[in-house]
Amino acid sequence: MTSARDQLLQEMGIGPLWKLRHALVGSAAAPLALLPDAMADHAAIQVEPTVPTVPTVATVPTVATVPTVAPAQEPDAPPPADEQAQRAAAIAHMDWPALKAAVSTCTACALCGSRRNTVFGVGDESAQWMIVGEAPGAEEDARGEPFVGQAGQLLDAMLAALDMRRGKNVYIANVLKCRPPGNRNPSPQEVARCAPHLLRQVALVKPRLILLMGRFAAQTMLASDASIASLRGRLHSFAGTPALVTYHPAYLLRAPTEKARAWEDLLFARATWQGLQIPGDTTT
Ligand code: URA
Repeated sequence: MTSARDQLLQEMGIGPLWKLRHALVGSAAAPLALLPDAMADHAAIQVEPTVPTVPTVATVPTVATVPTVAPAQEPDAPPPADEQAQRAAAIAHMDWPALKAAVSTCTACALCGSRRNTVFGVGDESAQWMIVGEAPGAEEDARGEPFVGQAGQLLDAMLAALDMRRGKNVYIANVLKCRPPGNRNPSPQEVARCAPHLLRQVALVKPRLILLMGRFAAQTMLASDASIASLRGRLHSFAGTPALVTYHPAYLLRAPTEKARAWEDLLFARATWQGLQIPGDTTT
């Protein structure tokens, strides 16, 4: 490991814990091989053996089926199903400019009344990696860009530890495009109404790998109510695209001892992505 890498791992708060025990690259077992000494005795998280070839678990996003248009008077009451379907179908055909315009003027839920800015997404629109978070916080709301607060700084450090950075082969978006007041959890209605935007972003980016950060991203995209602990360490599929789950950077700031597991997830993601590389592909 280079000293620059050591530095980055230390920025993530895991530098001193890590020791490379076995050679890594391309091995499905690699993340376990890289478990820190501190975790070696409780390596309970099973990494499925066939990394690149067999995306498993959830396949079809049910989020695609529930987008809605908010009624004028009761923003949280579900609108008629045909309106929901029409709105979802319209969004599903949008190009980037139309989608950006639709998000920036969206009034489909009550969050439009409290937001300062919509937070669309950022990065390489043809990226092979797509990262999905939960919802904008105060700084994101103020700046209109995802992951620019403290959690975002940690995300940047996590990406840098993989020799990656936002904007270069990475696209970052959230489940919600508007900030829930006080950073409360997104409501199911808000998630349902905003989901068509995220689904269209995924369809336009066409990533090779989706990294789902935190419970809302994972549960929304995988149509699951399972815990992060049970979803991470396994290869999932979002509409045919390999998807992995890890902790949200904001959670890692509150629970720094979990950074070691998050690093394990990132290595699993990288090994998966490396396994997906097409021979002769020069885009990476
Ligand atoms: N948390 C998220 O999930 N997304 C952001 O953009 C910022 C914080």
